[in-house]
Amino acid sequence: MVDRQGLEALFRKHGYADFTWVDPKDIVVAHWVRMKCRFGCDEYGRTASCPPNVPSVDECRLFFNEYSAAVIFHFEKRVDAPEDRHAWTRSVNRKLLALEREVFISGHERAFLLFMDSCCLCPECAGTKAECRHPEGARPTPEALGVDVFSTVRPLGLPVEVLSDYDQPMNRYAFLLVE
Ligand code: SF4
Repeated sequence: MVDRQGLEALFRKHGYADFTWVDPKDIVVAHWVRMKCRFGCDEYGRTASCPPNVPSVDECRLFFNEYSAAVIFHFEKRVDAPEDRHAWTRSVNRKLLALEREVFISGHERAFLLFMDSCCLCPECAGTKAECRHPEGARPTPEALGVDVFSTVRPLGLPVEVLSDYDQPMNRYAFLLVE
């Protein structure tokens, strides 16, 4: 049984006010997302927590079905230069890891975080799971687990658009699965 009130108090303690509960069964998992990873993403095969170093799309769908609740955290950011987003991502993901740990310790043993964007805990990713420098902290993104973020957050009224330039504000989402 998920203690939503207690968890929301924890989220606020960590400075998060922009979050939305979602039934994990409403998290859309699709093969097209994995195709976009495999063809067109320069991080494919180059980071330890991205495809192909992740379960299959069908396994991901089964994984989400093991949970009864999930929280989507919304982050909005505009960066001056494309490379600036990595430092921002590192800082956001580190803070989210601290939250995941506290949720776990509060009695939610299945707590599992999906990072807002590629891991970025290290300035240079080691590239393979075997060489990962922080395997205890590395987490996949929703997209790495086949989540169609567009189709998942739109019905919740959350902003999400394809951007044509980095000077447009980004809307990014991290997911926290709890049971
Ligand atoms: S912790 Fe470092 S080495 Fe491991 S996936 Fe993240 S960035 Fe790569």
